[in-house]
Parts: sequence; C-alpha cells; structure tokens
Amino acid sequence: MELLKGADVVADLNKRLKEELKLFSNYTPHLAIIRVGEKPDDCSYERNAQKRMETIGISCIKYHFPETITDAAFQKEFFAINSNDAIDGILLLRPLPKQLNEKAIEAAIDPNKDVDGISPINMAKIVSGEESGFAPCTAEAVIELLEYAQIPLAGKRAVIVGRSLVVGKPLALLLLKKDCTVTICHTKTVNLPNVCKNAELLIACAGRAKMIDSSYIGANAIVIDVGINLDDNGKLCGDVDLETISSASLATPVPNGVGTVTTSILAKHVIRSAKKRHKEFFNM
Ligand code: NAP
Repeated sequence: MELLKGADVVADLNKRLKEELKLFSNYTPHLAIIRVGEKPDDCSYERNAQKRMETIGISCIKYHFPETITDAAFQKEFFAINSNDAIDGILLLRPLPKQLNEKAIEAAIDPNKDVDGISPINMAKIVSGEESGFAPCTAEAVIELLEYAQIPLAGKRAVIVGRSLVVGKPLALLLLKKDCTVTICHTKTVNLPNVCKNAELLIACAGRAKMIDSSYIGANAIVIDVGINLDDNGKLCGDVDLETISSASLATPVPNGVGTVTTSILAKHVIRSAKKRHKEFFNM
C-alpha cells in the first residue's frame, strides 16, 4: 500500500500559490483570523494557519475576544471586520461559545471573504455546482490530494463516512461534481463495513479513532482519512487503523495527511478572494 502524504501535496500547492502571488504588484492579501476564547485546538489551528500564510506571503491579522463576550458586542466587532476593505478573507474559529449566535454570523459574512465556506450562499453554490464560491477548506483539501495523486474520479464509487456540514456533505457534492457515484454514511447506516467495502474511494470523516479497519476495505481501495482524534494513549490518530488495511492501494496518514493540506487551501482561497477584490493590483 502506498502512502499519500500531505507534505508532498502542500509543497506542490505552495509553489503554485507563491507564483500566483508574484502576479500582484504592490499588494499583499490579508487574512483575518477571529478567535473567541483560548481553546487549545483553536490556538493550535491559528498558529498553523498563520505560519502557513506567512510561508506563502499572505499577511494575517488576528482578532482575539474573551470567551465571555456578549452576542451584541461580538456582532459589532464582527461587522467591523467584515466590512473592513483591507481584509480579503475571514477565518472564524468555531464552534463559538454558546451565547453567540453562530447562524447570524454565517448569514452575515461577506461571501466574497468567506474563505472557509461557512456562508449559506457559498454552500448553495456548491449544491448548484457553481465554482465561483468557496468550499470548506477541509472538503476541498481532499479533492486537492486526489488530484495531486492523479486519481481518475469520473465514475468512481465513493463512500463517505460522515455527513457534517463542514466535511461530509460538501465533500459529497464536490465529488459528485467530479462525476463520482457518491454514497454518504452516518450513524444510522445499516451494515457500514459492507457499504464501505464496496467503495473504490473511501473517505473517513466520522471523528472515531481507528474505527475503519480491514473489514471496511475492498481490494485496491483508495482511503482518505479526514479524522483527527486521540487514541487510548492520547496519541494523535485518524479514523482509519492504517496498520490493518493492507488491501488498500493508497491511503493518507494522520498526522501528515488531509489536515496539512487544509491550511494551504485556506491560502489558495485568500489569494482567489484578493484577486477578485483587487483586480487593479493583479497582472494577468
Ligand atoms: P461531526 O460534526 O461530529 O460529524 C461526524 C459525522 O460522522 C456525523 O455525520 C456522524 O453521523 C458520523 N459518524 C460518527 N460516528 C460514526 C459511526 N460510528 N459510524 C458512522 N458514522 C459515524 O465531525 P466533523 O466536524 O465532520 O469532523 C469529523 C472528523 O474530521 C473529526 O475527527 C474532526 O476532528 C476531523 N476534521 C479534520 C479536519 C482537517 O483539516 N483534517 C477539519 C475538520 C474536521 P450522524 O450524522 O448520524 O451523527
């Protein structure tokens, strides 16, 4: 079984993004990262995103608010960031604390700055197969990995384990757009191992440590692991038990798989937004 590592995909994508940035004259795209509270996962994602943006040549403006901020105060701050012309993309670290109305923020975010695809307008574009919007970065990272590996997608039987709005559902639509025949599974799916075994392309995004073992894998399957979990020893692991799936032809590891690619997709989206918003600085 071959391993498809995120680092290889990132190196290739970052090179292309840096070339694209050279086409801007006297303009640096800006990403706003909004964090409420001090959750370790949010802080870690923020650090990684900032590092990746700086490597590529995008500037980050960080906005930090206390965990206890009121809904009215947060909405006011968010609207100021949303309408700030200097900002090309907004990454809002979620979920937000319970007192904040996340749906209102999703509805209000400028779809042209919504680089992580949380706006219902961008979701509607994915549903209609229109490519001018932004898909959630993780879902698009899976497509980037498959394209890097030159996997022909048209006609492939793809099975996705997970139906969340951030990963499973948008990914199903992106794969459908690539002419895959898509099955979406969830906790009520009957005989999940058998459904998965029929997949030529299996994508695990259930958030269950190592739940996918050899009994879920058909011969020569391509297995993409989106899960980020901790195993019984507190070690980072995916949804797939990589040691057991020797019948697969290709698989992504965790760590150094999909997660690594996600932040470069974020950078790709910020550049696309800046290109659209500031045509005057972009030399084609
Ligand atoms: P989520 O909102 O909890 O959704 C999980 C989905 O998996 C649900 O649809 C759930 O089904 C399904 N599921 C859970 N257990 C299952 C089981 N035993 N059998 C079948 N289906 C099952 O999680 P998420 O936000 O989509 O994230 C999924 C995983 O991806 C997590 O590990 C998360 O950390 C990771 N993630 C990674 C990245 C990255 O950049 N690599 C980004 C985002 C998330 P129901 O709908 O029936 O409950």
